[in-house]
Formats: sequence, C-alpha cells, structure tokens
Amino acid sequence: MIIQLKQEISSGQKETLIQKVTGLGYTVTEVKTQVGNYLIGIGKKAFDIRKIGALDGIQDIHIVSDEYKLVSKKWKVKPTRIDLGDGIAIQDGEMAIITGPCSIESEEQIVKVINHMKENNLTMMRGGVFKPRSSPYAFRGLGMDGLKLWYRLAKAAGIKIVTEVMQVSQIEEMYDYVDVFQVGARNTQNFNLLDELGKVDKAVLIKRGISGTIEELLQSAEYVFSGGNEKLILCERGIRTYEKASRNTLDLNAVPILKSKSHLPVVVDPSHGIGIREFVPQMALAGVMAGADGIIYESHENPDKAYSDGQQTLNFAQSSLLADQIRKTFAMRKTFDLL
Ligand code: PEP
Ligand code: MN
Repeated sequence: MIIQLKQEISSGQKETLIQKVTGLGYTVTEVKTQVGNYLIGIGKKAFDIRKIGALDGIQDIHIVSDEYKLVSKKWKVKPTRIDLGDGIAIQDGEMAIITGPCSIESEEQIVKVINHMKENNLTMMRGGVFKPRSSPYAFRGLGMDGLKLWYRLAKAAGIKIVTEVMQVSQIEEMYDYVDVFQVGARNTQNFNLLDELGKVDKAVLIKRGISGTIEELLQSAEYVFSGGNEKLILCERGIRTYEKASRNTLDLNAVPILKSKSHLPVVVDPSHGIGIREFVPQMALAGVMAGADGIIYESHENPDKAYSDGQQTLNFAQSSLLADQIRKTFAMRKTFDLL
C-alpha cells in the first residue's frame, strides 16, 4: 500500500495515521523524496480502505501488491520526466540520445567527442572515469582528475554528463561534476550504493544486472526511490544467456514490459547489449521501435584505439548516421500507436 501524504500534514496527523496502519497489521516505512511524502505499508491482510481513507493528511491511497511499489505504474500513471536542466530532459514522448566513449581517456579525446556531439545537436554525453573491468590489469579509468577535466569542457559546451559511480565513497566527490549517476550492471544489486544514491538530488540511471530479471531491476530502482530520490532512469543493456555469438543478449522484451509496469523512463544500450560494432545501429533502432525513451551508445574518434570496448564503439561518421536514424525512427514510431 502507498499512502501519499499531503504536503501540509502535521506530525500529529502522521503519527495517528502510522498507528492506524500498524494496527491493521502492516509495517510502515516513511519515504520523503524531492517530490513527495509517502507511507509504504507492507502486509498481506485485507482491510477496508475506508478505515483509514477518512483520516486527515492523506492525499491518496493506492493498493500496490507488487514487490516494487513506488516505481510502479499502479499508483502513478503519468510518466516521470527527468529534468537535467537547461531544457534537457529524459522523458516519455521524447527520444534521448546519449553517446560518448566507454572510457574518458584524455582532454583531446573529450574535445573531439564534444565537437562531434555539437555537430549533431547531441546534449548528453556518457563516459566512464571509474571503470568496472573484468580484468584488474585492464584500463580502470582516469578517476576524479578525468571527471573534473570533462566537467569543465562539457559545461562550457552545454553538455550533460552521464557517468558511472562504482562505490558509496565516490558519490560525494563526484556529486558536483555529474548530471546523471550511472549504476553499472555489476552494481545493480549493490544495495548500499543504491541506498546512498537515494539520498542525493541527482538523476540515477540504473542498468539491468548482468543476470538480473526485469523485476529485480525494478526492485533496485525501488531502493533508490524509497531512499528519497525519484529521479530514476531504467536501462536495458543485455543479459547473460547461453548465447555466445554476441557479448550479451539484448532483451528488448524488457522495454515494453518495463514501460507497462513503471512510470520511469527506459533507455536501451545496444553497445553492451550486442557488443559488436557493426550491429549496434540495428539494435539501437530496434530499441527505439520497442518503445525506448532513449538510446545510450558508445562512440569514439578512433574506436580501434579506444582504451576499452572499442569492438562495440561507433566512429563519428557511424554515430552521426545513427543519431539521424534514431530521430527518424522515433518520428515514425510516433505515428504508430504501439503502447
Ligand atoms: C559502460 O557503460 O561502459 C559499462 C561498463 O556498462 P555495463 O555496466 O552495462 O557493463
Ligand atoms: Mn563500455
């Protein structure tokens, strides 16, 4: 059960409400976000909603029996818009295009990507400064120095930064330089990290776990929301299956399913999803047609020289073409009534 509280509820009214709901056999958690104030009741007992519905301080009550509640569409039908400022947003009804290298490598590289983005009217740049690598001997990122350098250049160009945070201790130092914190596929169930991201007023893009189910992704998002942060974006980036012909299996089924279950925007990552450069565009466009609100893909001036994930990274000519095709495909999708 989700009880949406009125902004002006008094602490006495809230206490009465909590006692009443607890008395019905529910355990109650209070959630306060940038946007709202909620009581989440967990319990199985059926009860007559009129027993609490008339109490003071309630805006609305919703029965949501799923494991995830606040991220569910069952109580909030209107899609959530993630506003990054300066007119840049990720939202239903629009197509966000997020691109950039797997890893931030140098000032020269950042400048080249930014110029490429500006030529194509792209305003959201991805890139890792803390890189989760399967091998400890692989390039692990430029760290905070790289992020500060990137921030200075991106800010001057009016470009927003999407970058991965790997651990709790990095959140604070990264905070001022980041527009969207990315939670990587290896960290989707790092519940300490999710709890802490719930405490920041900054957008969070959560990738689906390498072997995570759709429901687990929604539950991970629930951690952040219930921690106090509603600014969430879900990302399908492929899962590990028995298939070895591609790096991962991009589960495009997840897109309409997530969109139907949650009010949060959904983006697709075809780069990690298939892991093969020449097939990234096809999967990106398939993601658009599946109903995604955005595509996040890797690009680099010279992918064969990239420090990481070059095999799945587009060069600038390919990226320009793809950005254009994403826009055209999205315009076509809008003429259909798919969802
Ligand atoms: C990345 O975006 O470069 C990355 C490491 O992604 P994932 O967590 O999906 O593997
Ligand atoms: Mn990568």
